[in-house]
Amino acid sequence: MQHCDQPIFKVAISIPAYHLFDYLAPEDVELDTIKPGIRVEVPFGSGKKMAYLLEIATHSEFELSKLKSIIRVIDPYPLLSPKDLRLLQWAASYYHHPIGVVIATAFPAALRQGKVIQIKPIKRYALTDLGLATDSQQLKRSSNQQRILEKLQSSSANLTEIELALLAEGWKPAIKQLLSKQLIQLSFAEEGVTNAGALMSKPALTANTQQQQAIDSVCASLGQFGVFLLDGVTGSGKTEVYLQIIHSVLERGQQVLVLVPEITLTPQLEDRFRQRFSVDIVLSHSKLTDKQRAMAWLKMQQGQAAILLGTRSALFAPLKNPGLIILDEEHDASFKQQEGFRFSARDIAVVRGQLLDVPVLLGSATPSLESVHNANKQRYQLLALPARAGKAIEPTLHLLDIRNKRMQEGLSAALLEEMHKTLAKQEQVLLFLNRRGFAPTLICHSCGWVARCHRCDANLVIHFDENCLRCHHCANEEALIRSCPDCKVGELTPLGLGTERVEKVLTELFPDKITVRLDRDSTQRKGTLEDYLQQINNGEVDIILGTQMLAKGHHFPNVTLVAILDVDSGLFSIDFHAAEKLAQMIVQVSGRAGRAEKRGKVIMQTRQPDHPLLTTLIEQGYQSFAISALAERKQASLPPFSYQALLRVQASDSGLPSIFFQALNELIKTLNVRHTQILGPVSAPMARRAGHYRYQLLFQNNRRKDLQLFLDELVPKLAVLKQAQKVQWTLDVDPVDLY
Ligand code: ADP
Ligand code: ZN
Ligand code: ZN
Repeated sequence: MQHCDQPIFKVAISIPAYHLFDYLAPEDVELDTIKPGIRVEVPFGSGKKMAYLLEIATHSEFELSKLKSIIRVIDPYPLLSPKDLRLLQWAASYYHHPIGVVIATAFPAALRQGKVIQIKPIKRYALTDLGLATDSQQLKRSSNQQRILEKLQSSSANLTEIELALLAEGWKPAIKQLLSKQLIQLSFAEEGVTNAGALMSKPALTANTQQQQAIDSVCASLGQFGVFLLDGVTGSGKTEVYLQIIHSVLERGQQVLVLVPEITLTPQLEDRFRQRFSVDIVLSHSKLTDKQRAMAWLKMQQGQAAILLGTRSALFAPLKNPGLIILDEEHDASFKQQEGFRFSARDIAVVRGQLLDVPVLLGSATPSLESVHNANKQRYQLLALPARAGKAIEPTLHLLDIRNKRMQEGLSAALLEEMHKTLAKQEQVLLFLNRRGFAPTLICHSCGWVARCHRCDANLVIHFDENCLRCHHCANEEALIRSCPDCKVGELTPLGLGTERVEKVLTELFPDKITVRLDRDSTQRKGTLEDYLQQINNGEVDIILGTQMLAKGHHFPNVTLVAILDVDSGLFSIDFHAAEKLAQMIVQVSGRAGRAEKRGKVIMQTRQPDHPLLTTLIEQGYQSFAISALAERKQASLPPFSYQALLRVQASDSGLPSIFFQALNELIKTLNVRHTQILGPVSAPMARRAGHYRYQLLFQNNRRKDLQLFLDELVPKLAVLKQAQKVQWTLDVDPVDLY
């Protein structure tokens, strides 16, 4: 340990290392301008790297003469606050992931590359003395100029461009004129967030009793930590509750972080926010450019924007004046990052709320079993919205037994009849099938040959539209062949159902009706999904067919019949999470029906009409399902009644994983396992993927703390095992998917 007079700068570098790196001060820089949370450039190996300054210490474990100096300080002030740095350090240790990689995750890509991005200050327009003294009647020949002047004179506030746009369409020329007449002047205001008087651009709805209770509970907790689970059926007015709570947060001059599964699938949500508030709202999602995302991030960091609406990666955006964190559809699997740094945005959001002293609001029609469990344990406060808001009525759910029934490309006669009845009333039908492509299997009718991916343990899916066979697990694509490559004579037939195939039969069975197909293939082109949604809402479409894309957040007011074509495919899985996911999917898809004043009907085609999951869900609802599913998990000591971490290992050489596991086994023998059960190693459910042989080992413990202590000891030693260098391995703490 070397004590010294010089400060030691401990930085994180985005490489697979579990520790920080020590550097000395840069030359010619005022030391007290260098604070944790800034980016610096450091010499590393024979080159240089971007690094994040996390700590300033008075000693180093290394000899000072061996330490190098920081080359350059990139930021004049910290981009991340001390609390957010603590959050990220906690996350790195909880998920046992390299600290530099975790810190880098918090930054948008453009800033990760070391760029410096300036954001323009918000332009505001205010009256000059002349403007104050001028009679607005003098401007009556230009209604826009007159309106803007009057607004400024009446409110004595200044106006931002957003506020001007709401006040007067075509405001730009009017502003130009007013500036040239010297009636107004431009001022760049420092503080950005809000101008409380001009907060609302559209009034709130009158909340019903349950909504009001939910709003009051959260508002009473503003300024302090608390977790709320807003459990409300689809259409019960959760979004309205968010908006009204956000209004209170904005009035306090604070910012709101709203995380949603996928914004691009729910353009309506953004509209509702923009219509309601006249503050600066920024977005962050994968369809934006790096620059746009960095701007949104910086605007929150500097307090210029008041609301950030983003997906999982927006979780770490810095907030100058944090007031509230909302996670909508908190059960959604997309809140779990499934590669690299495998974190749960929901779980980290809760920890973040605690560090920032702000409430965290989790909303869903189908809350995750973890959250239901936390509410049962009183760790989260449950807020229930049991009924649909407005005039909408709940849909009725029906199981349709299709055993021994004749099917036309997945459609039973009974379902077709229901479809005809609905369409005859000029109402819309929504069909759900969670499989894209034409058919999942191409098989030879005479020898049984099946088209398989040569890189994965998987069949190739037939895509007639693109005339190819495609693997849905790797990038592999092959030409669509017409004759059997094995027996050379057999006829190749598609087996099973995909959305393309159902679309084809729909156009044959309903020739005078308009069908649209919504899946990842049909909506690849930018703007296509929005176009389709527009057509559906304009009533130009009769039948909507799609994959899980449909389960998310859309409002289709004229849909009164929803059918789930193949509910059984979700019933038999080796992953214990499958039942929960299926139940959520059924309820979410059902939620699309009958949103307006017409009652909707949901039909599920099944060959398992007595399956307890289906009957519980239909007869008693999601909450009863959750109670019985939690009881089963408890019985089996599965999460949330125990804690898991999954070690995934893969290699292109089939022998290397077993050599690795032998070494790991020896290593574990030297550790205190603290009653951790070690299950496996076993082949992954998909034993080969993209040319890699895959195995997994599950760690499970009834105490979170003990599992963490065991992993704390294991992971650094595992990381330096010689045999670990020859395979690819990742650790997934709290896995939600055992595949
Ligand atoms: P959710 O987010 O739970 O699906 P929304 O907030 O989107 O629900 O509300 C569903 C529909 O009910 C919307 O059309 C919304 O305008 C309407 N709504 C919500 N709250 C009220 C209310 N208090 N009074 C009247 N209509 C409401
Ligand atoms: Zn493949
Ligand atoms: Zn054949």
